[in-house]
Amino acid sequence: MEKRDIIIIGSGPAGLTAAIYSARAGYKPLVIEGIPSGGQLMTTTEIENFPGFPEGITGPDLIGNMKKQAERFGTDFLSKDATAVDLQTYPFKIQAEEISYQARSIIIATGAQAKYLDIPSVEKFRGRGVSACATCDGFFFRDSIIYVIGGGDTAAEEALFLTKFGKEVHLIHRRDELRAEKYMQQKIFDNPKIHIFWNSVVEEIKGSEAGVEKILLKDVKTGELTEKDADGVFMGIGHSPATKIFENQLKLDDNGYIVCNRGAKTSVKGVFAAGDVREPLFRQAIVAAGTGCQAAIEADNYLQKA
Ligand code: NDP
Repeated sequence: MEKRDIIIIGSGPAGLTAAIYSARAGYKPLVIEGIPSGGQLMTTTEIENFPGFPEGITGPDLIGNMKKQAERFGTDFLSKDATAVDLQTYPFKIQAEEISYQARSIIIATGAQAKYLDIPSVEKFRGRGVSACATCDGFFFRDSIIYVIGGGDTAAEEALFLTKFGKEVHLIHRRDELRAEKYMQQKIFDNPKIHIFWNSVVEEIKGSEAGVEKILLKDVKTGELTEKDADGVFMGIGHSPATKIFENQLKLDDNGYIVCNRGAKTSVKGVFAAGDVREPLFRQAIVAAGTGCQAAIEADNYLQKA
């Protein structure tokens, strides 16, 4: 079984930054990339707020650059999913499909994924009118009737962004008050293009081969059902961290995010976490990269003492 000093699980900005720092610190880190690789930035178009790119950069280009930089200093990449870990033994064990590794330290950077409503028609129309990424797909909904589901900051941000494209943008929220930050709420209320369906949930999405055509809305107070014309339905109902393989092995919070204390240290010595998998609040590429750097420095400190 191959043994490594540092294995990084995940290849978004957190994992790749951890790889750059670990490789430059003299280790030969292995990145188990996951499939698809590169994380959420791979479905992001223009990134205009990552410092150092005054003209902006696309998500795939930013990830491609980070990967090249990590490779230049000797990082190895494995294009597989990490399918199991054993953090109770030392060195730790990691299974990547049929390949087994031992690791003296692990950096977890598996990220988070947007949640989709758990109704069959959502799955059916995913990619054909149902999306969870306004910045990726908004462009396809010019002059369309768009619905955004959720009442938090993600939903608010998506709705505001989609006003650039849609002729109507409707926010559907299951309660009678938004969870989003107050200033975001104000932006929503002040935007004449946005209309809110309060106390409402989507019961079903209807359409044809061509895509979404209607949604069935239910008023949760009265039980009344109404059918509405729709072209696009965007999920803004939160994210879930990719922590399934770590359950019962390290401390997770109630929502499944990895709990870190004092920087990137998890509840298991020698295991560090970076990026969205530990960070439900900011969810920004620059924060992921920053915490990736933090995790690599902490792993180096740990290995020097171990
Ligand atoms: P949140 O958990 O904050 O909000 C999720 C929203 O979706 C809630 O309004 C919730 O309703 C609703 N919801 C959840 N499940 C369902 C369901 N099954 N059916 C219908 N509605 C549902 O997630 P966000 O992704 O919005 O935000 C996560 C964190 O990231 C927050 O801390 C937020 O502040 C932060 N964030 C910050 C941004 C920024 O500052 N620019 C941008 C985006 C996120 P209910 O309110 O009833 O629970």
